[in-house]
Amino acid sequence: MTTASNPTVTPAAAHAHCRCGAFRFESASPPILQLVCHCSQCREVSGRPFSNFSFFKVRDTQTSGAHRTVAFTAASGARTVREVCEACGDMLIDRTEGFPKVVGVVHEALDPPLPFKPLHHVWADSRLADTVLPSDVTVYPKGAG
Ligand SMILES: [Zn+2]
Ligand SMILES: [Zn+2]
Repeated sequence: MTTASNPTVTPAAAHAHCRCGAFRFESASPPILQLVCHCSQCREVSGRPFSNFSFFKVRDTQTSGAHRTVAFTAASGARTVREVCEACGDMLIDRTEGFPKVVGVVHEALDPPLPFKPLHHVWADSRLADTVLPSDVTVYPKGAG
C-alpha cells in the first residue's frame, strides 16, 4: 500500500457506475488495494483479456440500483459473487468469500478515474498466451486467497 505523497491532498470519495448508469457504487475512502485478474470467469463476464480491480473497505461503501449476482466457485474453493447491472449487463462489483472485508470494483468503471498501480496479478496461470506480466508486481499463479 502506498501513502499519499502529498499530504495536502484529501482523497476524494470514489464513485463508479456501469455503462448505462443504473447501477452505482460509492466509497467514502480511497482504494486500499489494486490488482489485475487473469481468470477465465473475468474474461467471460467482461470480454476483456484481463480485469483491473480496485478494492475498497466494505464498511465505507454502498451500491444502489438494480443488479443481479453471478456466483461461481473458484478453483481455490472460494466462492465469488459478481454483481452485474440488470439493465446493461456490465460487471461492476466483485465480492470474494476469502476477503469479506473488501469489495472489488472494476477499475474502468470509476468515475472520475483514479490512478491504477496494481501490485498484484492473480490467476496468472489462466492468462492468455500473449499477455505479458510486468516484472515489478507480485504474481500469483492462482488466487491470492
Ligand atoms: Zn447498467
Ligand atoms: Zn478474475
